[in-house]
Amino acid sequence: MSKLIVGNWKMNGSLVANQALLHALVQGLPAADACTVAVCVPAPYLAQAQALLTGSPLCWGAQDLSAHTHGAYTGEVSATMLQDFGARYVIVGHSERRQYQGETDAVVARKVQRALSSGITPIVCVGETLAEREAGATEAVVKRQLAAVIHTNGHCISEIVVAYEPVWAIGTGQTASPEQAQAVHAVLRAQLQAATPQAARVALLYGGSMNPANAAALLRQPDIDGGLIGGAALKAADFLTLVAQAVDAAATT
Ligand code: PEP
Repeated sequence: MSKLIVGNWKMNGSLVANQALLHALVQGLPAADACTVAVCVPAPYLAQAQALLTGSPLCWGAQDLSAHTHGAYTGEVSATMLQDFGARYVIVGHSERRQYQGETDAVVARKVQRALSSGITPIVCVGETLAEREAGATEAVVKRQLAAVIHTNGHCISEIVVAYEPVWAIGTGQTASPEQAQAVHAVLRAQLQAATPQAARVALLYGGSMNPANAAALLRQPDIDGGLIGGAALKAADFLTLVAQAVDAAATT
């Protein structure tokens, strides 16, 4: 199956730095169709991404969107605004937003609905904290998070991407083992299968300190269809190595 590699730049970048990074990525991307590649940039840089990437194989997207369509929501960015700038993807429910902005499962589910109704693919993040893993609650937590999205979005669920991102692995240098990640991905796949006959087309990404040293084994797991990459997405050489590893994994899985 073709893989999907998405960079999450988080709150990093500048016009000058982005230009250099995007240029290096476009120059270095392989021609292969075996991997779709995207970068999710801070909202102010969507126009820059659109200007530099239109016509290139590198897709772009945002890191969040409003749960509302328009109106008196100061500071919010709507799905249709993202659409104006050609965003193909939007990350929804990243653990940093759940943790620091208090996003609930219900809010995440509404944001997914907004993205889908504007034709933007939501990358829905789910994942447990270390305390939840140690309490044996991993499966229950990720199923609860995904269930809210399924409940609100019904059969449209086949149009989403899901990213399993254990909170304890994000930005910590600590990665889930391929077996740990695969076990959770299999749970998510089964949950999607129960919700839609088209579950096989939902890409399941792993995220959490993925880097060139650990990605190959993760990307060869049967239910890991790609990666959501934070830190390593800011270095062109690392990100391109991950893309090459995804192309290799697509050829062998
Ligand atoms: C992320 O923020 O989605 C992420 C996976 O970060 P990192 O790769 O830095 O752990």
